Amino acid sequence: MRSVRGVVPGAVAVVGLALTAACGAGSAGTLSAGAASSAPAAAASTTATTATTAGPSVTAAPSATTPAATATQSATRTPSASATALRTSSDPARRTTRWNEPTTFRALPVVSGRALAGMVVVLDPGHQIGNSRHLAKVNRLVNAGNGIRKACNTTGTQTNGGYPESKVAMRIALAAKKRLEAQGAKVVLTRPREDVALWGPCIDARGRVGNGVDADAVVSIHADGAPATARGFHVIRPASVKGWTDDIAKPSKRLAIAVHDALVDAGQRPATYIGSHDGYDVRSDLGTLNWSDQPIVMIELGNMRSARDAAMLTDPKWQDGVAAAAITAGVVDFLA
Ligand SMILES: [Zn+2]
Repeated sequence: MRSVRGVVPGAVAVVGLALTAACGAGSAGTLSAGAASSAPAAAASTTATTATTAGPSVTAAPSATTPAATATQSATRTPSASATALRTSSDPARRTTRWNEPTTFRALPVVSGRALAGMVVVLDPGHQIGNSRHLAKVNRLVNAGNGIRKACNTTGTQTNGGYPESKVAMRIALAAKKRLEAQGAKVVLTRPREDVALWGPCIDARGRVGNGVDADAVVSIHADGAPATARGFHVIRPASVKGWTDDIAKPSKRLAIAVHDALVDAGQRPATYIGSHDGYDVRSDLGTLNWSDQPIVMIELGNMRSARDAAMLTDPKWQDGVAAAAITAGVVDFLA
């Protein structure tokens, strides 16, 4: 958002306030049909126990990924030498034939360097474990930008075993912080730690953190809650919305491609249930993206409700050695 901070252009639509079973960021659009006509004061369940809420672009039966599309996407760019050095493999064949599974992924070591010297990176670990204890504050509607009002935040989703999305996001953010700092970056987190006593911050405040520190890149970290058979990650970038994200849409797309390709290079499977199944989505309704004046992407790193995705998402070795390593490689590729 560039020039109309604090001003809500046009009509305001209440899109959603309920705490949701799916990742709050990824599923917000799902709530529009029901939530728009329901009373704003309605209280929501504090726990994400109904696992089947799915995003607007979810298809009934996940299909195979589309290697050709991924290869084409990747072929349009040339990774920098420093970014390539941080990756598992730059071999296009590997990208499309050997997706990570819980027992096969390879964790990458931390790589030191100066590729990000002088750069500022904001990491936004989605949600907060204490959100469920502060429902009045978390359900308060905020300006999500682009004429939309939404709940301040949600509880996020969780695995079938009860491992919360907010914990996945924080662990990966802390690991990525170390890796980015090892490349010389200054790293700012939008929330300090996973803590049941804390809540928020709200989606609009998260989106503005990067503006306050003149961030070179902002990465919001989430994991989704989709049907159990759905697999894989997707990277969400802001649509170009006049007065909001038209100034950051292009660089955010470059950041999205860089992070996407780093995840594919690290062996991660593009989502089988979003859009064209190529691991990308574009949204104009996400407050965190709309409020940013800096290049920003939101990553849904996998499906918490898939047993196989969940086994990786909750594994400290994968959180650091795959997810955080790929985020770092993508940011380096974008900025270096
Ligand atoms: Zn989320």
